[in-house]
Order: sequence, then structure tokens, then C-alpha cells
Amino acid sequence: NRSIRLARRPHGEPVADDFQFAEGEVPTPGEGQALVRTRYLSLDPYMRGRMSDAKSYAAPLEIGDVIIGGTVGEVVESHDPNLKVGDLVQNYGGWQEYSLTTAKEAFAVDESVAPASAYLGILGMTGFTAYSGLLAIGKPTEGETVAVAAASGPVGSAVGQIAKIKGCRAVGIAGGPQKVEYLKELGFDVALDHKEPDLRGRLKEAVPEGIDVYFENVGGHVWDAVLPRLNTYARVPVCGLIANYNLTEAPEGPDRSAALMANVLTKSLTLRGFIQLEFVRDMYSDFLREMGQWVSEGRISYREDVTEGLENAPETFIGMLNGKNFGKTIIKVAD
Ligand code: NDP
Repeated sequence: NRSIRLARRPHGEPVADDFQFAEGEVPTPGEGQALVRTRYLSLDPYMRGRMSDAKSYAAPLEIGDVIIGGTVGEVVESHDPNLKVGDLVQNYGGWQEYSLTTAKEAFAVDESVAPASAYLGILGMTGFTAYSGLLAIGKPTEGETVAVAAASGPVGSAVGQIAKIKGCRAVGIAGGPQKVEYLKELGFDVALDHKEPDLRGRLKEAVPEGIDVYFENVGGHVWDAVLPRLNTYARVPVCGLIANYNLTEAPEGPDRSAALMANVLTKSLTLRGFIQLEFVRDMYSDFLREMGQWVSEGRISYREDVTEGLENAPETFIGMLNGKNFGKTIIKVAD
């Protein structure tokens, strides 16, 4: 069982030496457990947080732990009547070839709705993050303007497409001309490149009506450009702050929290952070039904960035944090 473990906590941007390759026995499932052979491993920004020991919503990885990760795989041995050999499941198997799971921890993968890897993206955690954060916190109504950054990624691209389904104007911000072109193909009404100069000015020109919902994925200079464009009563689901994940110290001053709070007060803004897990119980079955339908009807499309081979996970992960990925980052571990 080949695995990739945390060798040491990254300082700033992770580097190859922060990861350790290991080889061990394939685990034996106990009563109520099943052994899953991983086909696809999902790489996601939250893993950077788990590698650090800063206080967060979930316990950090310990040095030597297999790195956490969502996986899709095939049940190859089972001591649980609810999981049969040959079943495809989505579980949190981590960065390794084989993992143990239980029926309670594993979701069924239905390949008649979409290919198995989609259960790590549009029909999995990232699609659900977009769906739950946008609908439960953003609460977009017809005719409103919804903006999102990291817009070509799995969360952002779903946010924009759901916004269109809800009758909104969708504004996407992404890095580079190819990604911007893709946003237009997806039906975003406005697509802007955050790497070009004067994002603030371009946003003002392209979105004269202002922004009613800003789905926050990145923070940093994009947030600085968006804040002045927020309308009275705008909602900001705070989903991620990827611009900060590799920071080793606070950004240089001046301290802008007074200006931020003045905006919150005078524009009656709602900023509400969330971790998608809080909505699973109430919204996951609606999500699977609705998103499954939108995907099979072709109303929502998605893009994957698949790299072959578990051994390439560290390099691919480091690249994703810098925007090298184009679509949902996935490692193909086995056929
Ligand atoms: P993506 O696959 O979109 O990857 C991250 C993208 O962020 C990069 O491709 C890059 O896109 C963009 N990015 C990186 N650095 C910067 C920067 N400094 N400024 C602007 N953009 C930057 O990621 P996901 O769709 O998986 O995740 C999006 C966000 O959602 C992340 O912040 C993640 O942590 C968060 N998240 C939160 C969850 C929750 O429960 N709260 C659950 C899942 C995800 P580009 O090239 O376009 O700049």
C-alpha cells in the first residue's frame, strides 16, 4: 500500500521535502469495515490548512500521518452487508492506494449520472460547497448580481452556473486569459482576469449595478477590488481565503479593518463564514438530486484537471495552490 505522508509542517509554500513516500501492508478490514482500492484522489486547498498546526475547525495532521483526501474507489473486500465487493464509493481514503471505510462514512457513486471522478467535484464536496454556501448564505434572487473568484475552479464555476440558473447576472474573476475564456463559455456575463492591472477599475466599469452576492474564495487583492462594489444588503458567504494560505506573516499595513467595518456598517453587509459540513445533514440529498439533474441535462458543466500517478500528488498540490490547475484537481491512482 503506497502512501504519501506529512514529513514536516510546510513553512509558507509547501515543498517536495514536506512530503514523505511510504510503502506498507494493505490493511485488513475488521467487522463492519470494507477495503477500498482508490481510483481517484481529490486534491483540495483545505489540505494546506491541515498540514499546519494553527488552530482551525479540524484537528491538524500529525507528522507521519497519511495526508487526508477525498477519494473514489472500488470495494475489494467487505465485512459489511451494506458494502459489496465491486461497489464504487466516495470516501476519505487519503493519499494512498488502499483505505478502510464503513457504510456510514462512504457515499454511493452512481456512474449512470456522471463518471466516477465527478463525485470528487461537481457531485461531491466542491459542488456541495458552492450549492450550500450560495443558496443558504448568499440567497441570490432573480435579477441580482453574483460575483465569485477562483471562478474557473470547481467551487467557483459551480457558483456562477447556479447563479445563472437562479436568474442572476454572474461575474467571474480568474487568473489568465484561458480561464477567462472558459468563464465566457460557461455563460458568465462578465469575466475578468485578476492578474491584469486595475481590477478595481475594470470591475467598476463592467458591473455598474454593483454586487449583491460575493462568494469569497480568495481574499487578497481581489477582495480589495470587490469591497467598494458591494451593494447595500450584499451577502458575502466567506468560503475560502486561498490568497492567505501560504502566508507566513500578516500582510503589510496599513490596517484596513476600520475601513472594512465602516463598509459593513454603512452598507448593512452580511459576511458569514462557513464550512460545508454544517449543511450536509439538511441539504446533501437535495444537492445530489438537483445537481445530478442539472449535470445530466447539461445545464451545469464542469472541468477536471487529472494527473496520473499517486507519486505526482505533492507537485500537483503545490501547483494548485498557485493556480496552475485548470478545473478540479484530481490524481488518477489506478484504473
Ligand atoms: P481551485 O481549484 O479553484 O484552486 C484554487 C484557485 O485559487 C487557483 O486555481 C487560483 O485560480 C486561485 N488563487 C490562488 N491564489 C490566488 C490569489 N492570490 N488570488 C486570487 N486567486 C488565487 O479551488 P477550489 O474550487 O477547490 O476551492 C476554492 C476555495 O474554496 C478555496 O479557498 C478553498 O479553500 C475553499 N473551499 C472551502 C470549503 C468550505 O467548506 N468552506 C470547501 C471547499 C473549498 P486563478 O488561476 O483563477 O487565480
